[in-house]
Amino acid sequence: MRKIVFIILVLTFVVLAGCSEENQAKSDAEGGDESLDIVTTYSIVYDIVKNVAGEHADVQNLAPIGSDPHQYDPLPEDVQAVTDADAVFYNGLNLEAGNSWFEKMIQTAGKDGEDDPVFRISEGVEPKLLQSGGHKGDEDPHAWLDVQNGIRYAQNARDALIKIDPDNEEAYKNNTAAYIEKLEKLDEKIKQKIAEIPEDKRYLVTSEGAFKYFSAAYDFEAAYIWEINDENEGTPDQIKSVVDLIEEKAVPALFVETSVDPRSMETVSDETGVPIAGEIFTDSLGKPGEEGDTYVEMLEWNADMIVEGLTN
Ligand SMILES: [Zn+2]
Repeated sequence: MRKIVFIILVLTFVVLAGCSEENQAKSDAEGGDESLDIVTTYSIVYDIVKNVAGEHADVQNLAPIGSDPHQYDPLPEDVQAVTDADAVFYNGLNLEAGNSWFEKMIQTAGKDGEDDPVFRISEGVEPKLLQSGGHKGDEDPHAWLDVQNGIRYAQNARDALIKIDPDNEEAYKNNTAAYIEKLEKLDEKIKQKIAEIPEDKRYLVTSEGAFKYFSAAYDFEAAYIWEINDENEGTPDQIKSVVDLIEEKAVPALFVETSVDPRSMETVSDETGVPIAGEIFTDSLGKPGEEGDTYVEMLEWNADMIVEGLTN
């Protein structure tokens, strides 16, 4: 009899303990820190996702501001953050392709399953293709330099967040609508600014050929020293071919991106006598509190810099 009472007591204890553990887990999910943990691969996607998620997410970014997201070496804590994340956003279109860093990181973090919450934010963008070298025919990643694609990114972020956190659907929809309104205004503003540049001067020369989407959207010709950031940046042949083109087209100014080594463009400037008008943003935002520290600010800065360089 005593034995039975003892067993009943033990069972009751086990059941109660089980319940309280369950309650604990439930209250962790419901109360306390309710924000989603999100990881983004580089600063531009970070800013867009932050605008869409608002207060409902803690967003952590990987490739630091000013660095090149084409080739990044994830730290052990980055892999841990990806393992723990509720969602991961990346650009795709071959951006995070150098040494397959993103793919390898996702595998190491155990998030390479079909149903894992890893979202390509450029989904649905009409890709432009690379035209030279070993990357010929591959997709060009720099879609965000056309604001209409930035709007697509915001919509994709919204849909992904609603999928993983349907309770806050309303907030994600409202945040995105307000943000898109801002982006539409920005798009219009860039078009107005660019219209100040005479058509025969709309020649945008940068180190990396990051302006395919931009030049299609805003009616430009774009030229570059190398087509995409990889191990072959600024070879003598690349320098010679852009120097010839600058002379042939009488390009008035050159530009250099904040996220590349400026020395190749400096060589081009020395050889042609054409000045570097200034720095523009392609693959990274500016530092917080400085020029170009949001997606909107960086594109406005670029438009101003390009107009100033090509009209003076
Ligand atoms: Zn790039």
